[in-house]
Amino acid sequence: MYSRKKVFEEIPEEMTAIWSCTSDDCNGWMRDNFAFETAPTCGICHKPMESGMKMLPQLVNTSKDQKSTRKGVTIG
Ligand SMILES: [Zn+2]
Repeated sequence: MYSRKKVFEEIPEEMTAIWSCTSDDCNGWMRDNFAFETAPTCGICHKPMESGMKMLPQLVNTSKDQKSTRKGVTIG
């Protein structure tokens, strides 16, 4: 364990659009990052998925100049 002040950067969470499995027996869900034109099917049980929201840590990958103004941005 390191005892410096900020070893880990805090990753803020944000409401993120996701797809969740409609099956009660399945916990499958995925981020809505891929701009599906139609609702995807669950990768686990292949049932239809429905769109929803979930608190998730912000993604810090992909596009390079994405960290500019992400605060309070509502996609819709
Ligand atoms: Zn499923």
